Amino acid sequence: MDGLMMNTPLTLQEILERARKVFGEQEIVSRIEDGSLHRTTYSQLHTRVLKLMGLLERLGIEPGDRVGTFAWNSYRHLELYFAIPCLGAVLHTVNVRLPEDQLRHILTHAETRVLFVDRCFAETLAPYFARGERLGKIEQVIVLDDHGNGASQGIEGALDYETLLSEASPIRAMPTIRDEQAAGLCYTSGTTGSPKGVLYSHRAYWIHSLGSTGVDSMAVSRTDAMMPVVPMFHANAWGFPYTCAMAGAKQVFPGQHLLGRPLAELIESERVTLAAGVPTVWNVLLQHLRKNDHDVSSLRNMIVGGSAAPVSLIRAYKEELGITITHAWGMTETTPVGCCSRLKSTSLALDEDDQIELRGKQGIPVPGIDVKIEGDDGSDLAWDGEQVGELCVRGPWVARSYYEDEERQSVFAADGWFHTGDVATIDVNGYIHITDRKKDLIKSRGEWISSVDMENVAMAHPGVLEAAVTGRPDALRDEVPVLWVVASPEVPAPAPADLVAHLGQRFAQWQLPRLEDIRFIEAIPKTSVGKFDKKALRRRMSEGD
Ligand code: ADP
Repeated sequence: MDGLMMNTPLTLQEILERARKVFGEQEIVSRIEDGSLHRTTYSQLHTRVLKLMGLLERLGIEPGDRVGTFAWNSYRHLELYFAIPCLGAVLHTVNVRLPEDQLRHILTHAETRVLFVDRCFAETLAPYFARGERLGKIEQVIVLDDHGNGASQGIEGALDYETLLSEASPIRAMPTIRDEQAAGLCYTSGTTGSPKGVLYSHRAYWIHSLGSTGVDSMAVSRTDAMMPVVPMFHANAWGFPYTCAMAGAKQVFPGQHLLGRPLAELIESERVTLAAGVPTVWNVLLQHLRKNDHDVSSLRNMIVGGSAAPVSLIRAYKEELGITITHAWGMTETTPVGCCSRLKSTSLALDEDDQIELRGKQGIPVPGIDVKIEGDDGSDLAWDGEQVGELCVRGPWVARSYYEDEERQSVFAADGWFHTGDVATIDVNGYIHITDRKKDLIKSRGEWISSVDMENVAMAHPGVLEAAVTGRPDALRDEVPVLWVVASPEVPAPAPADLVAHLGQRFAQWQLPRLEDIRFIEAIPKTSVGKFDKKALRRRMSEGD
């Protein structure tokens, strides 16, 4: 017998409506191109979204059409985040840092019809249109310009967003859309291979947002001022634009100003309580805060993910600034939040050091997400914190296939589990610890070495600002680790032997890098979303560095 509950739709239209009705006065603050702050509210957002929907309709956008954005985090991007899916079309967020071949590939693959572009990227895109290349099937470019001059920014045939919006009539009524309907499209950042498309439904966004308001998840509340430093052009900015609107939180967008000082100033002036970003961003901010005086006391929590947050970073924020870092794990394929490292009541009894170690793990799956670790033979491995296997996940906001990509579907197993490509242990308390990506693991004499663990320990050395570990073929040991080090500018650079001795406190002799495999470099190359780019490091090695 079926239950007797209403089946009201779980769509972004509901989130937008609720924001207007109950949080109309709540602020949305954006740092715009010239560095000044723009202020608006959810009520004004709602008004402009309806006009934007009217405009999209006039442009002939139909349900299911892909409409792209190529932009930093800002209130205009937020308008697009709502208007496109609320019309029944698909918001295709395009990573602004993609190399040319990937940019061309994903826009062609997605058959994106209209592209909304921040003014500062007009110069990047103008040459394509000048030589008649439409980057797939783009029919119209619309430029987001603070001064309403988008049409004259060099892209042939481009129109100006603000001018169009001022002339547009609001859509008469919200179209009827289904929960299951596609709402967004994002391609993976291509850290280990070429980007794959993930098509999100309204339902997935809605449930993911609700899940993220949970106090043991992202804990977004109406009393928060939330600053997503994680870009809206990748993995839905971890869902924060929608979660904040659902919760009624103030949103604080840093635009393109992502270095230590502008972030610190924004936290200070907007009394930011919650922020989210990859570890490299928070490392840069930490260096700035160590040398400069800012009042960041409003910040109660920083969410760190995208790649492993070093325990040394978690410790430094706690001990030097009293700020708690919450480690979270996710993927483009999981909308993205999958697990979150908050403590259990039993772990509150641990001493500070052990608590910080625990926070270094990626955490417990959030409600709705089911996980397991699988051995090479497909067997379920025990949750004992020792057995290492591939992390598999399933849940209502996990993709069940890649968008139009017949060749790369094997990770979605017939039994309903998504194989993440991440290698992990899970302990008896359910805490997941990602030890590596399958493609980054180092196999020495038949035994695995975790590159992530070694980076983590290396970065705890006071003379190390950043460290990445890759493998190198070796006649004797099959593969050996290579430690790439960026020395801290604050203290004399450590000697290679000193670093190996430091690693020796946590790693067995056979796991340690040889002295000649400690390589000092100016900076670790980063991917388009700020992760360590190990493909680039391996290339550098094969080119003889
Ligand atoms: P890409 O696979 O191209 O990097 P994503 O941006 O979707 O695309 O990244 C997802 C991957 O990022 C995960 O599979 C995992 O390897 C890594 N990741 C995300 N969060 C964490 C974390 N907290 N700790 C370690 N790795 C993480």
